[in-house]
Amino acid sequence: MKNELIKRFTSYVKVDTQSDESSETCPSTEGQWTLLRMLVDELKSIGMEEVTIDENGYCMATLPSNTEKDVPTIGFLAHVDTATDFTGKGVNPQIHENYDGGEIVLNDALKVIMSPNAFPNLSEYKGHTLITTDGTTLLGADNKAGVTEIMTAMAYLIQHPEIKHGKVRVAFTPDEEIGRGPHKFDVAAFNAKFAYTVDGGPLGELEYESFNAAGAKITIKGTNIHPGSAKNKMVNSAKIAMELNSRLPLFEAPEHTEGYEGFYHLISFNGDVEETKLSYIIRDFDRENFNARKANMTKIVQELQEKYGEDSILLELKDQYYNMREKIEPVKEIVDIAHQAMENLDITPIIKPIRGGTDGSQLSYMGLPTPNIFTGGENFHGKYEFISVDNMVKATQTVVEIAKLFEERA
Ligand SMILES: [Zn+2]
Repeated sequence: MKNELIKRFTSYVKVDTQSDESSETCPSTEGQWTLLRMLVDELKSIGMEEVTIDENGYCMATLPSNTEKDVPTIGFLAHVDTATDFTGKGVNPQIHENYDGGEIVLNDALKVIMSPNAFPNLSEYKGHTLITTDGTTLLGADNKAGVTEIMTAMAYLIQHPEIKHGKVRVAFTPDEEIGRGPHKFDVAAFNAKFAYTVDGGPLGELEYESFNAAGAKITIKGTNIHPGSAKNKMVNSAKIAMELNSRLPLFEAPEHTEGYEGFYHLISFNGDVEETKLSYIIRDFDRENFNARKANMTKIVQELQEKYGEDSILLELKDQYYNMREKIEPVKEIVDIAHQAMENLDITPIIKPIRGGTDGSQLSYMGLPTPNIFTGGENFHGKYEFISVDNMVKATQTVVEIAKLFEERA
């Protein structure tokens, strides 16, 4: 299975599928179409049925049931795009067999070295086959690893008809990294009762809690006047912006929080005397605290409006996604099955809240409860991204085992 995984993964990562927030189309970039069309062909060639791709680039396929039992239809999803943080063009994957636990020279000429001092988790991979970048791009394990593992698991189940399973649906989707993900996903056409995104990090990750998320965009208008004659006339919008930010709790920011703690995060601040724009994201696991944070932001803006004039400050507050736990808890058995699948494979499940969102955060509210399982990748979104092929085998086996357990329990 290792060679099959390497072959698929290295062919997928060579296609530049970086998404683009400034694009209005879905998928946002042409490269995603290229990979999605490759996947359509491959799904057909491995023997999947009902292989479709719609006008928004959502690719779906079916592995028909091979059991007499009445098993709920389950789905597996992975996104094909890569992060916008670092270039994904010209990815040149490097394979390191039987990793010795020491430094890995990613690029000799550019002196890019990945060392266990900077990345202590490398020590867990002694003896593994690792795939890294050449130090000039990201790898794209997020989430071509998930695509690879789902594809390989389906090929495995087709080649092993003795493993009984219900109907399995798979989907490869665009634009997760720019927050759109399943916006146009046809849940009715997918027609699964439960699903899993295969989009997590290291071995054993199993996630069914995400943030509640909102974005706040604030525009502040000032009045610019020659500083020499500005007394009682100038209104400096940049200073009002600083005043606004200073009213937020100082330690409720990403750099001071972890675990279940929420925050306000100032992601950009652009302005001058005349006009200043602030962009925040607001995050909290707890719905009440989330609402309280939004109310606090609104209150601060109102107070400043009272002080500087109602038209001087404009707030646009928009919810982005919600904690999927609310939708998954009532069908917690799907998390238990993933947990059991990992234990059956001697993998220790690591359940922790995602300090972010996944496609599952949106899908769960669209009627498809969707927890997330690991892919085996580490250091996502940069040049130190890498993945263990040994753990990709385990992720693939986990997908197979989940399908098997649904049949056994039906
Ligand atoms: Zn991802």
